[in-house]
Amino acid sequence: MKFYSTNNGNLKTGLKEAVLEGLAKDRGLFMPETISRLPQSFFEHIDEMSFQDIAIQISQLIFQDSIEQTEIERMIEKAITFDAPLVNISKKTHILELFHGPSLAFKDFGARFMAQLMAYLIRGNNRNLTILVATSGDTGGAVAQGFYETEGIEVIILYPSGKVSDLQEKQLTTLGKNVTALEIDGTFDDCQAMVKEAFMDAELKQKRNLSSANSINIARLIPQTFYYFRAYQQLSPEEREKATFVVPSGNFGNLTAGLMAYKMGLPVRQFIAATNINDVVPQYLATGVFQPRKSVQTLSNAMDIGNPSNFARMIDLFHKDSNPLDSVVKGYSFNDQQTMAAIRQVFEQTGYIIDPHGAVGWLAFQAYLREEPDACGIILETAHPAKFLETVESAIGQEVSVPVRLETFRNKEKNAIFLPPAYEALKQFLMND
Ligand SMILES: *Cc1c(COP(=O)(O)O)cnc(C)c1O
Repeated sequence: MKFYSTNNGNLKTGLKEAVLEGLAKDRGLFMPETISRLPQSFFEHIDEMSFQDIAIQISQLIFQDSIEQTEIERMIEKAITFDAPLVNISKKTHILELFHGPSLAFKDFGARFMAQLMAYLIRGNNRNLTILVATSGDTGGAVAQGFYETEGIEVIILYPSGKVSDLQEKQLTTLGKNVTALEIDGTFDDCQAMVKEAFMDAELKQKRNLSSANSINIARLIPQTFYYFRAYQQLSPEEREKATFVVPSGNFGNLTAGLMAYKMGLPVRQFIAATNINDVVPQYLATGVFQPRKSVQTLSNAMDIGNPSNFARMIDLFHKDSNPLDSVVKGYSFNDQQTMAAIRQVFEQTGYIIDPHGAVGWLAFQAYLREEPDACGIILETAHPAKFLETVESAIGQEVSVPVRLETFRNKEKNAIFLPPAYEALKQFLMND
């Protein structure tokens, strides 16, 4: 399987380069050269398959002969270790819970799969791989845990001192082993600038085999297609005919993965892009004009993105399609006040505690239902409500219980190396470590 750049369909690379480089040489995003349709037998037998079986079949479809079947099976067994259950909350509405992984957000799927795939791709190399990432909070936790104890890979995470939540800091700084946290006496932008400079430093690259784990890596999208099929599998035959996937979106990786699943033959009646007031994509879908702008802070902060990176992939997937993107995807956006009211309303009407991102999705589905009363909604719940305790507790007026796997981090001891916000300090650390 080859991958091309969204900037130039003729610029093609192999799997190894696409995953280890992350970004194409012309700064485009990698896309698989072909997205084949699953055979009819896949859908005939889907009821008998486990989540891992589904993941294996889709991986085979994508990687084809680039990875042997036994290796694919081994990777899936290590990466897909938790389920994506569908919870019915009302007659027409299901919640797809994507937060059963170690960092309690859907990004665990991408991070864990990417770790396994990278470990496979560097096997036999005599040098270890160093994953260098800057985080403003959440991504770092998923990456740290996803790569934890992965052979041949060292992870170094830069985070801005005092600017991530206590729990986020604990998720980065208490693992140890192959995960090192660098606490930078500066801002997230400082961390990001230091990482960028490292990737341009020829001397450092002599010493270390560097790679990034950022959200535009194609290796993160592939596993996100798996749970769309897992959701479909949990619907009744009547519901399967009118499945509407509602995707709370920021950088639009999750929605792009859904569109890839659709291209593989997943029957979907409608996709819904749900955003907070950072509504560049819903605006595009309504007007045909894509106008990136500065992001605005909201309660659903993982979706505060003003220039969604995966937009190029969405356009690319549909540029030759007879169905235009704006018929397959509908967009809706909501503000914080509506989000708070939705968290309360979902709780009062159904007893379900939804997080602020899922609440934006729920609002979008309510709006869609007014136009299409016959729809069956599957709302992707991208994070556990306990990750946004203050917001959720103030919306529902009662306490939210925190899962044990989140709580255990609180009592562990922080272990981070404190550095000034200067590239030289990072370089010295990386050259000597
Ligand atoms: C990252 C994230 C999102 C946005 O996902 P995209 O793939 O960037 O659209 C939504 N909700 C939560 C909780 C997230 O962590």
